[in-house]
Amino acid sequence: MAAAGAAFGSNTYRNGAHRSSVKADGKNLAANQSFKSSSSASSSSASSSFKSRSLQFRKSSPAALGGANGAAKDGGGVPGRVRVAVRLRPRNAEELAADADFADCVELQPELKRLKLRKNNWDTDTYAFDEVFTEFASQKRVYEVVAKPVVESVLEGYNGTVMAYGQTGTGKTYTLGKLGEEDTAARGIMVRAMEDILGDISLEADSVSVSYLQLYMETIQDLLDPSNDNISIVEDPKTGDVSLPGATLVEVRDQQNFLELLRLGEAHRFAANTKLNTESSRSHAILMVNVKRYVKEKDPVLPMENGSNSHSAKTFKAPIIRKGKLVVVDLAGSERIDKSGSEGHTLEEAKSINLSLSALGKCINALAENSAHVPVRDSKLTRLLRDSFGGTARTSLVITIGPSPRHRGETMSTIMFGQRAMKVENMLKLKEEFDYKSLSRRLELQLDKLIAEHERQQKAFDDEIERIHAESEMRIAETDGKYADALEKERIKYQKEYMESIKKIEEQLVGDQQKHDNDSATVSHNDYYSNGEVSSISALDEVADLKKLLEKETILKKAAEEELTNHKRQLYQSKLMEASATSEILKLRKLLEDESRQKQKLEGEIAIMQSQLLQLSFDADERRRQLDRTGSGNDSNDLDCLTAQVKNPQLSDSENGEKASVAKLFEQVGLHKILSLLEADDADVRIHAVKVVANLAAEEANQQKIVEAGGLMSLLNLLRSSDDETIHRVAAGAIANLAMNETNQELIMAQGGIRLLSTTAANAGDPQTLRMVAGAIANLCGNDKLQTVLRSEGGIKALLGMVRCGHPDVLAQVARGIANFAKCESRASAQGAKTGRSLLIEDGALPWIVQNANNEASAIRRHIELALCHLAQHEVNAKDMISGGALWELVRISRDCSREDIRTLARRSLASSSTFKAELRRLRMDY
Ligand code: ADP
Ligand code: MG
Repeated sequence: MAAAGAAFGSNTYRNGAHRSSVKADGKNLAANQSFKSSSSASSSSASSSFKSRSLQFRKSSPAALGGANGAAKDGGGVPGRVRVAVRLRPRNAEELAADADFADCVELQPELKRLKLRKNNWDTDTYAFDEVFTEFASQKRVYEVVAKPVVESVLEGYNGTVMAYGQTGTGKTYTLGKLGEEDTAARGIMVRAMEDILGDISLEADSVSVSYLQLYMETIQDLLDPSNDNISIVEDPKTGDVSLPGATLVEVRDQQNFLELLRLGEAHRFAANTKLNTESSRSHAILMVNVKRYVKEKDPVLPMENGSNSHSAKTFKAPIIRKGKLVVVDLAGSERIDKSGSEGHTLEEAKSINLSLSALGKCINALAENSAHVPVRDSKLTRLLRDSFGGTARTSLVITIGPSPRHRGETMSTIMFGQRAMKVENMLKLKEEFDYKSLSRRLELQLDKLIAEHERQQKAFDDEIERIHAESEMRIAETDGKYADALEKERIKYQKEYMESIKKIEEQLVGDQQKHDNDSATVSHNDYYSNGEVSSISALDEVADLKKLLEKETILKKAAEEELTNHKRQLYQSKLMEASATSEILKLRKLLEDESRQKQKLEGEIAIMQSQLLQLSFDADERRRQLDRTGSGNDSNDLDCLTAQVKNPQLSDSENGEKASVAKLFEQVGLHKILSLLEADDADVRIHAVKVVANLAAEEANQQKIVEAGGLMSLLNLLRSSDDETIHRVAAGAIANLAMNETNQELIMAQGGIRLLSTTAANAGDPQTLRMVAGAIANLCGNDKLQTVLRSEGGIKALLGMVRCGHPDVLAQVARGIANFAKCESRASAQGAKTGRSLLIEDGALPWIVQNANNEASAIRRHIELALCHLAQHEVNAKDMISGGALWELVRISRDCSREDIRTLARRSLASSSTFKAELRRLRMDY
């Protein structure tokens, strides 16, 4: 492309005789261009030819953030040359009158996209452009060819620039800024661009805001707030992005709203009169339109409503926003100031007025010539437009010229400016980023919702329990009352009946007594026999009466008994009811327990979400810092990596970042809370918690706190109780870290740690688990006090058992453990604290030691060499070492070992042992 661009250089066309080369370059241009290829085609096809290019972008842009195959993954963008169109203004009234007898100084060949500039009556120069607009070109067509593709790119998230350059009075403001209120066909590029933008975005989700500025004599003034008359440019020192934080930024909601802003700006615009045109301007007008859009995703970002899904927290994604910026620049007139005869300016002022424009020309020259230095910093205009030329924006330039031969010189210099601008290559880059702020707002909202929901449930539950309790108490009281009433009634009834029957019997008795008295008086007067007869008859009657009475009493008693059983039954039933109420209370209590377990789980989830939130915001900070550091390069790589981090924070590569975020978590959540999560019911929570604890344990500063809070115990418990290998691996890693400290080593031993680690090793399949376990045991092996216990609990056997896996990392830890152990033993022997054969030899470690003494992995070899030297220092081991082949290895070490200290140690060991010396003499060997 650069080669084709270079071919548009004016030199090729200077000489009108180069006909054939014009044709060839015309072909080149057609292949390269994005402006319409034929001026006779309809204007809509013009814009569609640029559109197909945009589509091509979209495919290759890193739009699919999750996917790793964005074309811009290398951090580069899409090449995009600055497009340049030339527009000829129709003759105005003055020219019609004054130049009536002269031909125009230019001749356009729009179908060939060429322009001929008359040198004199017989000679012309020919220049090619991306598009050539005659005096008849409509505003609509100019917009569609020049600006619409730029607007479309901005809507897709790129930066874009549309700029007009030319002599005062040639139609720059007409092309860009015409409001077209009386005649809609005359609407200029600014108005049409905003119409397209507002028509494309979603007003609910996206936003458009504008600033409108004027640059005059190296001072930036706010056209939307004239009191704001010295706005400074702020450059991000790392990314080089420029911004104008002091400029008024107005959100645009509709077209009317925008037109009012333009009108307001125009009213404020500083217009210096020149003799060329009373409306002409010596200042640059700059419209900035910021478009912020959310990238729509297929998956809803918030998949859950009730918050009960424990995996939900993992599905949060930061929404992606694209921020395109459209800059429309109506430049000051390009004519030299002395010629314009601007009045009331000193020479210094005149220089200052032209400074920005001449700096722009210099930058474009430098870019066109691929010069190493582009003097961007020379003026405010070039600083503001640094992204537009040689940057990441899509840029279109319209150069405007007038027809009059009187201004041939200015027209010529405008054309040369356009020719050079055509050679400027930009690298288009998508301005896309994660919106962490909104994600974190959303997470917080979700958290609040979860907490509120939980509180609501808890309250409803408490109310229900209270209600049931009150109801059952009321029922019991009611039954009790009823029963007592019935009982009392019965009692009164029986008492009454009893009293009545007593009264009756008494009456009877009194009656009988009287009768008896009467009868006995009669007997004394009458015949003895007859007297006896009468008395027996009355006695019989009495008996019969009494019998009847008795029968009646019996019936009454039976009825009372029945009544009693009835009441008993009632009592039993009410007891039953009471029992069922109690069982209901029990059931509810159980429910309450379930609920509180659920609450605990939710709290665990909340803790995880908080940690993820922290992680996310940390990652965002980190990311931002990293982006700042690396500039804008490598976007997509970084984003992939970031996505991975968010999904799996523990796998983060940036170890420091991870530690810092874990430390932050530690502060916020508290160690006790984290440790309590080690016993959570939810396996995910447990895994997460043990990873956090392991990270903390890796920092020496945290180790004591963890042990004091019971963390070591919890970790050992996890080895005992969990079946999950990930938990085993991470817990063993944490224990290995804690086992670096002597006090902790004793604690681990006291807690049966060796047996737990041995069992874990025996069941583990993953080499990384074995590495962690071996590392932990190796640390314990280095403690002089623990030697015997460690061995008797199977520590050495466990180490030797792990060599089955063959992974060099595991073997290195085993070798380290053996070396540590041998060193402690040799120290004990030297102090006379140990007399017998090495426990390593007792436990059968020697064959493995000999076998690996010359292992090609240096980490393994060094440890074993040291172990052999230590073993050799104690005479009692010598015999076994000779029969096991260790003597040969010692001799080899004493001769070949690359480390001098080990060589010396080996030599000294050999020299100090009479058994070794005798054997070497027997073999006639020198050492
Ligand atoms: P500049 O901004 O370059 O100084 P203007 O846009 O103010 O020039 O144009 C100068 C005059 O020419 C204005 O009156 C404008 O209406 C008129 N003019 C410019 N271009 C055209 C055009 N293509 N068709 C009709 N009138 C034009
Ligand atoms: Mg103007």
